Amino acid sequence: MATSADLSGLQCPVPLPHRTEITVGHGGGGRLTQDLLDRVFRPAFGNPALDSQHDGAMLMPPVGCRLAFTTDSHVVSPLFFPGGDIGELAVNGTVNDLCMCGARPRWLSAGFILEEGLPIATLERVVASMRDAAQAAGVSIVTGDTKVVERGKGDGLYVTTSGVGVIETPLVVAPSSIRAGDVVILSGDIGRHGIAIMATRAGLSFESEIQSDCAPLVTPVHALLGAGLEVHCLRDLTRGGLATALVELAETAHVGIEMDTANVPVSELVQGACEILGLDPLYVANEGRFVCVLPESQATRALSILQKSALEQSAVIIGRVTAGPAGQVTQRSIIGSERIVDRLSGEQLPRIC
Ligand code: MG
Repeated sequence: MATSADLSGLQCPVPLPHRTEITVGHGGGGRLTQDLLDRVFRPAFGNPALDSQHDGAMLMPPVGCRLAFTTDSHVVSPLFFPGGDIGELAVNGTVNDLCMCGARPRWLSAGFILEEGLPIATLERVVASMRDAAQAAGVSIVTGDTKVVERGKGDGLYVTTSGVGVIETPLVVAPSSIRAGDVVILSGDIGRHGIAIMATRAGLSFESEIQSDCAPLVTPVHALLGAGLEVHCLRDLTRGGLATALVELAETAHVGIEMDTANVPVSELVQGACEILGLDPLYVANEGRFVCVLPESQATRALSILQKSALEQSAVIIGRVTAGPAGQVTQRSIIGSERIVDRLSGEQLPRIC
């Protein structure tokens, strides 16, 4: 059971006066654990719930509100990549899943699996990133846990985050609310996160030019909901990319979706990288992009709201919901040909998030 201050198990072989030179050790004493808690975690994440040092965070959601609750583990390799790192990803990934439920993200937990030998400086960098991402998204990290595994039994650092958000809208933002006649709006250009990771791993020369799109979606999502738009469903385009997300929505909602590939924005750099790496951008992971499904009559307002956002300026309608065939996504290409879209098969891009 994770506890609000139980970031124990994080143990170092030596005292901490030169913390940037030391590594996470296996074994050691409680005093050193306390040192790390005091020096690394509490200064970064400090808030009343965490500082209470109780067995769990005690939360006060508004009376009568529905809550959204989600969890995700993050194993991305490398830990640091152009446009982000595992810490930022771990916060934004969970924040964005809460946003996709129409919720305002409020509280996060963070569970760390650390490999013996991980430099404390690396941990500090990741924790600082999590602190900044949490601040940007308006969430507090209120409980956590840390475990250390032997050298060679981990891969530096894994982070699991869970999150609770408050649903302020009376809408049910979910696949079950999707209706034939709805339009599908894509919030921006796709493929940057997956390509940033793959280019780094492959050592491609353009690696530093393509930055991950990793970002919190709180502002654009709540701009749509706050404007009173009848948002039927939201889905972030993480592993499996846009194509897989649309297939999942069509299957769950028992509708058809016609996708207009010609309208899908892909930067020239991402398109070029995809050709070199043999990838289809429609299946490449994103960490700051989403689709919004809503009635066609509200599409113009939704587009103008999204296009005002710094993140989402290239928002565009990329599809329409049809009564059927249920579960089928059809892709119309630039030259007008049609084909049925499958979900991502296998692991096109392992260790991407
Ligand atoms: Mg998601």
